[in-house]
Formats: sequence, C-alpha cells, structure tokens
Amino acid sequence: MEVLLPRSLDEALDLAAAHPEAVPVAGGTDVMVEINMDHARPEILMDVSRLSELARCDREDGQLFLGAGVTYTRIMRELPEATALVQASRSVGSPQIRNRGTVGGNLGTASPAGDALPVLAAMGSEVVLVAAGGRTRSLPWDAFLTGVKRNALEPGELILGARWRVPRGPGSFSKIGTRTAMVISVASVCLQIDDDERTVHVALGSVAPTVIRAPEAESAVAVALDRAGAWDDPAATIGAADAEAFAELVAAAARPIDDVRGTAAYRRHACRVLARRALAWALADRRAEAA
Ligand SMILES: Cc1cc2nc3c(=O)[nH]c(=O)nc-3n(C[C@H](O)[C@H](O)[C@H](O)COP(=O)(O)OP(=O)(O)OC[C@H]3O[C@@H](n4cnc5c(N)ncnc54)[C@H](O)[C@@H]3O)c2cc1C
Repeated sequence: MEVLLPRSLDEALDLAAAHPEAVPVAGGTDVMVEINMDHARPEILMDVSRLSELARCDREDGQLFLGAGVTYTRIMRELPEATALVQASRSVGSPQIRNRGTVGGNLGTASPAGDALPVLAAMGSEVVLVAAGGRTRSLPWDAFLTGVKRNALEPGELILGARWRVPRGPGSFSKIGTRTAMVISVASVCLQIDDDERTVHVALGSVAPTVIRAPEAESAVAVALDRAGAWDDPAATIGAADAEAFAELVAAAARPIDDVRGTAAYRRHACRVLARRALAWALADRRAEAA
C-alpha cells in the first residue's frame, strides 16, 4: 500500500488529481477499521491530517466555518458556544476516538449514525469541497449526503469543511444507544431554535438512509410558539398538547429499519422521547435566559 504525505492543501489536491483512487485519511477512525476488518484494501492512502488548511475554525460575519480536519476534542475545547455540536462531539466514541476523529471524516463516511451530521443538518449547513487549482463548490448538507455511506464527493475532491450561520437561541444534541458510552446511536435528535428567524429546526440520525429533517414538526412547533406569544416573550410557553403533537410529528418523520441495534418501532419511539425532551430543554433555556 502506498501512503501519500502531502504537506499543504495544494500539494494534496495535486496528488488527488493525479491519483483519484487515493483514499484520504484524516483521523483514520473509520478508514483503519475498514482496512483492519478487511472490508477495504485501498492501493493508495493519502494522509490529510497534517494539512493546516483543513484544521481551521473561523467565525466570520455571524457564520462559523469548521474545517474538515477539526477533531471532536478541539470542538469541545474551542467552540463552547456551539452547544449542540459540542454535545454531539462529547458523545462520539472514547477520548482516543475524539482526539483523532474529525467532522470531515464523519461527512466522508456519511453514515446515517454519524453524530456530527444531525447538527450540520439542523444548522442548514453547507459542505465546502475543493479540487486541484483551488476550485471550490458548496453543497447544502442534504445534497452532499446522498444515501447510506454515500456522498457527492467526486474523485480528486477533498472536503474543506462545513459552514453555517450561527443561530441565536438554544439547541441540543442527544442520542440513544444500546449503552451509555462508546456507542453508535440507535436514534439521535438535534434541535435548534433560531430566535431571529423564529424557526425551530429538528434533524434526526440513525432513523433513515441519511440524516433527515422533520419539516412538518418544525412548522407545527413554530406556529405553536407563535400562538403562545413565545417568540416575543421567552417566558411564555406552549401547552402539553402542542409539545406532544410536535414529538408525534418528529416520530412520524422517521423512516427507520429493524437492525442489530434496534427495531424500527423502538427507533420511532426514541425519536418521540428525544424530541419531547429536546423541546422542553430549549424552552426552559429560553425562559432561564429571559428571567
Ligand atoms: C471505537 C469507535 C467508536 C466510534 N464511535 C463513534 C460515535 O460515537 N459517533 C460517530 O459518529 N462515529 C463514531 N465512530 C466513527 C468515527 O470515529 C467517526 O465517523 C469520525 O468522525 C471519523 O473521522 P476520521 O477523521 O477518523 O475519519 P477517517 O477514518 O480518516 O475517514 C473517514 C472517511 O472520510 C474520508 N475523509 C476524511 N477526511 C476527508 C477530507 N478532508 N476530504 C475527503 N474525504 C475525507 C475518508 O476518505 C473516509 O472515507 C467510532 C469509531 C470507532 C473506531
């Protein structure tokens, strides 16, 4: 096996153009498992973990750009304001995995169980791709994630990072697994309130071929918040029936399957419970901030 060790993004992109079959490796926490289990035997690996251009984390004009090579440990240390992303990062694997694993790797693997992905979906993020000559293109998260472990990356391209507008309002990520730590999610939910846009975004992981949003639930809860006057007065809240209807719509948006980690019925139930909790936390945070 040949291993390419580029020292700059330009060099990496030239190598990727010359060897489109080369498999990029960032933290290697997915790639090396595939190789160790003999599920893949790439002829060429390209280490992208040393590229400082992928390790950037920039805040600009109310937007956050998260480089593909930023690890979960760095997110936890350096982005405390990105609450949901920090919570998702904390839930990934073990400290060793979080020290090596990156959001770019999560996007590259494109598993519906990737824990960073519901956060990127709830934020309505764009995935930025780059190719030789510095050609970049940005795809909305749902155009990038095309299926189970499939994405829109073309040969010769690298993931530069993801970008989103930072919303003003509370948000959270939570997941259910078969145990409490070191676990692939059976279902996960990211909920984000945007007080400027007066919207609630909800994204689900592990319950469909890709991460999905729950648009009917999002609209229904935004209307309920409006009816309750909660957009103008964070101390106001919605009734139990509206919260339950929201959780029901989130569960209805899921398209789960039965597999070794859980049944479709359990996953749908998990979505209902996680959604109800996430909404309660977010509304409590808004009330606490207003008090
Ligand atoms: C023990 C263990 C526990 C885990 N627990 C979790 C968990 O709880 N939650 C979770 O979501 N995941 C988990 N994972 C999976 C893995 O850690 C994550 O998916 C992680 O985000 C992968 O990042 P990486 O940098 O290690 O990716 P790598 O293994 O280096 O790469 C993964 C894929 O992305 C591609 N890639 C990486 N960077 C780029 C780039 N810049 N441009 C183009 N392609 C790129 C690679 O070619 C490959 O296809 C676990 C893995 C292990 C081994």
